[in-house]
Amino acid sequence: MQPTSSKPFYYESFPSSGLVAYFSMEIAIDPRMPTYSGGLGVLAGDTLRSTADQGVPLAAFTLVHRKGYFQQHLDENGVQREDIQPWNPADFCTEEKARVTVSVEDRTVTVRAWRYELMGRFGHMVPIYLLDTDLEENSGWDRGLTDHLYGGDSNYRLQQEIVLGMGGVRMAKALGQRVNVYHMNEGHAALLTLGLLESQLGGGPLGAATEADIEQVRDQCVFTTHTPVSAGHDRFSTEQANRILGGDRTARLEKMGCFRDGMLNMTLLALRFSRNANGVAMQHAKVSRQMFPEFTINSITNGVHAPTWVSEPFQQLLDAHLPAWRRDNLYLRSAIDLPEQEILSAHARNKNALLNEVAARNGFSANPALSPKVLTLGFARRAATYKRATLLFTDPERLQEIAAAAGGLQIIFAGKAHPQDGPGKALIQQIFEDAAKYSNGVLRIIYLENYDWDLGAMLTAGVDVWVNTPRRPYEASGTSGMKAALNGVPSLSILDGWWIEGCIEGVTGWAIEDGADDAAEASSLYEKLEKAVVPLFLEAPEKWARLMRITLAVNGSFFNTNRMVRQYTRNAYYPVKLIKQAKLQRLEERADDRLPDMMTLNA
Ligand SMILES: *Cc1c(COP(=O)(O)O)cnc(C)c1O
Repeated sequence: MQPTSSKPFYYESFPSSGLVAYFSMEIAIDPRMPTYSGGLGVLAGDTLRSTADQGVPLAAFTLVHRKGYFQQHLDENGVQREDIQPWNPADFCTEEKARVTVSVEDRTVTVRAWRYELMGRFGHMVPIYLLDTDLEENSGWDRGLTDHLYGGDSNYRLQQEIVLGMGGVRMAKALGQRVNVYHMNEGHAALLTLGLLESQLGGGPLGAATEADIEQVRDQCVFTTHTPVSAGHDRFSTEQANRILGGDRTARLEKMGCFRDGMLNMTLLALRFSRNANGVAMQHAKVSRQMFPEFTINSITNGVHAPTWVSEPFQQLLDAHLPAWRRDNLYLRSAIDLPEQEILSAHARNKNALLNEVAARNGFSANPALSPKVLTLGFARRAATYKRATLLFTDPERLQEIAAAAGGLQIIFAGKAHPQDGPGKALIQQIFEDAAKYSNGVLRIIYLENYDWDLGAMLTAGVDVWVNTPRRPYEASGTSGMKAALNGVPSLSILDGWWIEGCIEGVTGWAIEDGADDAAEASSLYEKLEKAVVPLFLEAPEKWARLMRITLAVNGSFFNTNRMVRQYTRNAYYPVKLIKQAKLQRLEERADDRLPDMMTLNA
């Protein structure tokens, strides 16, 4: 995707009209709204919080997920039980009057939207539209289409994706929005491209679409892929596509190369119809290019929304010393000068809050209380096998020795397994078993149930070291280590995802070296704990404080959505290199008011 024009178009602001329409299956909007499952949703929420802070003209579309993601309960053996979390959208959102319809199988499904108003720091509002099919006009089945996030089977999922993608495009139109750019956050939203193509054809048959029609859709779409695990990409069989989407659409999608290995592949669909695609870290973009070599896939490294994830004690510290940090996260670089004692006392408050929470929840019953003096490791994320939560227990005797030498070691785990992920659930039970076997006076292992936004904030700020052990190269980015860094907490992690960019050995944390197998990587993990982490922790608090502040300064100032959103606006939404004179002229000739404002702005 090299610029073909010798006169690139410079664009330094947002268009004076029109907006970005951001589509995501899950968005962590408010801790009380169960509309997210994990990393993807938290990233989407953090992205929107930063677009609101920075005044980016944007509206977001998602599903209402009336029954939420699930609430996790773990029994004394670590067996997971899942309870629905029903919530009432009217408590947080305003109902829009507009109604649109989509066709699902041979039915017409009516969709409404709930508007949530996300306010930025300076009063700019980003509306989030939560699409909802729970309407009297719809059949019982269809009323439940927007109930469960990642629930049901793949038939249910494809129907939800029609509501999100095609329903969202129609809803944007019904609400009178002028959209410059459609951003698909992960392949779940890829059907929005079909919605656009159909609207382009005035509702005519897709078979009539020309290359120019397709090109016109491409001009409006950008795509972010989020997983290097191929099973993580949504795929549907030809039979499902024919039945649920319809024969005409399916034939057209097949012709346009959106099938791979006989399956409709939503990532391929999104890539085919996007003028810009990106992965979520440098390494992830590389892996994505290997998976889809026919496409240019750039990289925009993830971040987190600093004001959301910096704990109260650190907010006070930063407000006192670097008052502009919320407006411009680059000021966090100056955290390099924060007084060591103040860092230590802010962290001590975070650690106490976490340990009090652990005590209040009482972990599982046999566990004695945790000590604020003891080195505490945190490991919390979705319980998926590639994240290898049990790697720490590869050699229990060695772990025991390290704990003894450290004057004790505390490890706090948390994480939900997807309801249909048997191996992930087994992993939780394994940790419970290991915890019961190896916990003693020096080594204490706790698993907290129902990992969510609030617990995530408490854990990433309150532990001493954040641990991540994914099997390379399956971690696209990972963002919890970034939340830890914003609270001065260093990471001890496999060099995958964001950590390749964030790790400066001994300065912002430590890398677990690549090994031939799990045992070799576990051995490196122990080695780093024993030779680097523990000695520094025991040596002198001021030295640990210096490690904390350099972690905050170096990684906090970069791995945030303030920087990330700026990269999206400059490189994906309104980039210099893609806004070529030729394209602009063509758009101008169409007498479309979508882009010319940008020309006036730059004249
Ligand atoms: C930040 C966060 C995640 C992301 O976890 P990673 O494994 O670091 O990507 C998942 N779940 C919750 C609740 C979070 O807050």
